[in-house]
Amino acid sequence: QPRDLLQPQRENSQGMDLTDENVLRALTDVLPAMSAPIHTAPAPTAPADGAATAVINPANRNDVVGHIAFLSLDDADVVVARATEAFPAWRDTTPADRAACLFRAADALEQDMPRLMGVIVREAGKSLGNAVAEIREAVDFLRYYGARVRDGFDNALHVPLGPVVCISPWNFPLAIFLGQVSAALAAGNTVLAKPAEETPLIAREAVRALHAAGVPEDVVQFVVGAGDVGARLVAHVDVRGVLFTGSTEVARLIQRTLSARLNPDGAPVPLIAETGGQNALIVDSSALAEQVVVDVLSSAFDSAGQRCSALRLLCVQEDCADRVLTMLRGAMDELVTGRPDALHTDIGPVISEDARKGIVAHIDAMREQGFAVHQAPVKDECAGGTFVPPTLIEIDSVSALRREVFGPVLHVLRYPRAEMENVIDAVNATGYALTFGIHTRIDGTVDAAVSRSHAGNIYVNRNLVGAVVGVQPFGGHGLSGTGPKAGGPLYLRRLLARSPAIEGE
Ligand code: GLU
Repeated sequence: QPRDLLQPQRENSQGMDLTDENVLRALTDVLPAMSAPIHTAPAPTAPADGAATAVINPANRNDVVGHIAFLSLDDADVVVARATEAFPAWRDTTPADRAACLFRAADALEQDMPRLMGVIVREAGKSLGNAVAEIREAVDFLRYYGARVRDGFDNALHVPLGPVVCISPWNFPLAIFLGQVSAALAAGNTVLAKPAEETPLIAREAVRALHAAGVPEDVVQFVVGAGDVGARLVAHVDVRGVLFTGSTEVARLIQRTLSARLNPDGAPVPLIAETGGQNALIVDSSALAEQVVVDVLSSAFDSAGQRCSALRLLCVQEDCADRVLTMLRGAMDELVTGRPDALHTDIGPVISEDARKGIVAHIDAMREQGFAVHQAPVKDECAGGTFVPPTLIEIDSVSALRREVFGPVLHVLRYPRAEMENVIDAVNATGYALTFGIHTRIDGTVDAAVSRSHAGNIYVNRNLVGAVVGVQPFGGHGLSGTGPKAGGPLYLRRLLARSPAIEGE
């Protein structure tokens, strides 16, 4: 049986069953954020030099989760020099050996799941279910890219770039961080891994796991710092590629910096950017309303809406809009917004006070413009954290959406039956093209909507979030990113200076 080199043999991580009492008991014993009330959890002491930055729990801003020392600009030059020196040996390591390191790290993270969940919950404010999903996805990335090079790479034909910079966001502080890093390492590059300033602690755990699994210290270096350190790394002449997930604006700045130089082979310095979205879901009057409500809740409010895949614009055919929206508002009111370490919590905090203020300012501005706003209740315990109630705003045209609002805010638009394609065109015209969904029981409507949308990931009769590595490669077009899709068969090729053509090219 010939092996399919684009679909390596591997399995997705199974995570843990949070409805199983035995699992929960084990979790309660080891998960500090669950076993101790968050506000009394001991804060680690800051290092004596005073240069460390405190990492704050967004669910309780009095809880200092840890401290971390930021790199200086001079340090940035030192780490690039180390990565340059370490490159030839890592490049010449066999693909199987590189993969074996990633597999060992994956196993270690999976075994350490409860403790890592504690870090993610406290540092990033993720719910327990989201924390499990986060670790599973990170493990999947390690195994997926590892298997891709183990089964399909030949060092004589697949030539890596050199030192690359990975800049990742706080909303998937382990999964996206390790997705970028594992891909770059698997391909044979050395890595400067820069996590978001808000969530460095779980990223540090990930880098430790890679080192313990056999990746040399200078092959993957943990470079935590402010934006200026990232800018310095991106501008460094010895950096041969950049992987970035974050805002469209910063992706543009990076692109501009990289365009000022070429790699030694004369090629442009490659950038893989995954950025924002203005993601829409179309619901026609044939859709099953109960399923729509369930899928809208998870798409718009899961992770407090802090996913670039999250639903921002629900378009409901006007014939069924009253019925669907009445059910939706009722279901929203049942969501539990509260401390993320509690099992019954659906929605945790947003990442920071700045984020909260920006989201609230948007909601206030929409209210002032006369749009109807519905907000679900939040629990009293939320006072010390940066929580935003799940919010629904009825708007009258797609153009009322000015910018991506990265929080639990869902905009709703009613459309006349004959206007569906115009609504999709208006969504396309935002320039963003990340996720899109259609809920209908008419096959012709599925075809019409799917062929009209420009989005990278299109979902039919389900939610818009939680793409699975190796099964649903994830990424968009236009303002939403450069591609290739993460967790898909083409991703590694952007991380190579040279590779054999694949069939059809
Ligand atoms: N891959 C995630 C999902 O499918 C979203 C990634 C992101 O928010 O950057 O929900």
